[in-house]
Amino acid sequence: MRKRTHSNDLNTDKRVIMHVDMDAFFASVEQRDRPELKGKPVIVGSPPDRRGVVCAASYEARKFGVRSAMPSRTAKTLCPHGIFLSPCIHKYRKESHEIMSLIRCFCEKIEQMSVDEAYLDLSGRCLGNDFEASLMSALPIAREIKAVIRRERQLMISIGIASNKMLAKIASDYDKPNGLVLIPERDKKLFLACLPVRSIHGVGKTSNEILNKAGLHTIGDIQEHKGELVSLMGNFGPLLKQYALGMDDRRVESNDSVKSISSETTFMRDTDNRNILKSALKEQAEEIAEKLARHDVFAHTIQVKVRYGDFTTLSRQTTLPEGIQDTSAIYRNACQMLARERLVNQPLRLVGISASKLWNIKYSQLKLPLAFEPED
Ligand SMILES: [Mg+2]
Repeated sequence: MRKRTHSNDLNTDKRVIMHVDMDAFFASVEQRDRPELKGKPVIVGSPPDRRGVVCAASYEARKFGVRSAMPSRTAKTLCPHGIFLSPCIHKYRKESHEIMSLIRCFCEKIEQMSVDEAYLDLSGRCLGNDFEASLMSALPIAREIKAVIRRERQLMISIGIASNKMLAKIASDYDKPNGLVLIPERDKKLFLACLPVRSIHGVGKTSNEILNKAGLHTIGDIQEHKGELVSLMGNFGPLLKQYALGMDDRRVESNDSVKSISSETTFMRDTDNRNILKSALKEQAEEIAEKLARHDVFAHTIQVKVRYGDFTTLSRQTTLPEGIQDTSAIYRNACQMLARERLVNQPLRLVGISASKLWNIKYSQLKLPLAFEPED
């Protein structure tokens, strides 16, 4: 008699993953807030007479070939009647916050990837007789999320459902705008086969060219490829093959898991020696920078803490207009605070730095197109 445990074992690791992605987010927010822009080619980004790029284009502008990250000048050539608007970062962040709060009502296990994109792990909520049924039971949840966002925020979102992050993202991209696509587990290989290799997570422009040159154009080509991919793609080769077969074991990691990152040093002997303090702070800054990078976040608040020989502990913090992630910025801010507040007025038993108000990397990147602006 066959043991049933085998199939159960296989199923334990299957997840119900949803990828939600707002449609032409910045442009849609502008069109909602300014009805005169409805149905018009709206391009949010740098003005076309400046150096800078497009942050978002409405679907009307996309018809002309306008895409985000394209130089605004090129966008103007493609779409001469395009309406160029400067990004209103503050407004989009606020909108993002509203939308994510609505989505959180449906699922607590949510990993926000950018202002308008997130993964949800619904495995605990979606249970069916078999795994395909579990996936299917995410459909009504997706419909409800779409309806709530349309009703409460007057915006459209595309949703993909599948057994892992890579597939769910491909699914949400598949039928934009206002899409809802589910990739059944049994059909995933087939679903992927005809898509271009570029659709695979981690395949950028360069990898795409290398694969195409080797005759690998569709994901199906990679699925069928007999040889190893290491000579073409290096370490990414084996993973690429897995992705092509529809396998991806990256977990949904709730962003809430990291609220602050800190590091501190207790000295063997209390000290006010500037060199010792500086080298301790530098090491701490390095450690924090490395962790920020690993979590893909920028710190908007830096705090220093000192403890004196009598155990009196003081801390001071500063909130920065722009998030920081690099060692030198963290170190500089910490040193400035210690000096400004005259905290080293007697030997220290302990000194420490902590970074908080951690925001997803994409929030800070939003500022990039503006920072590029008036160079030439
Ligand atoms: Mg989007």
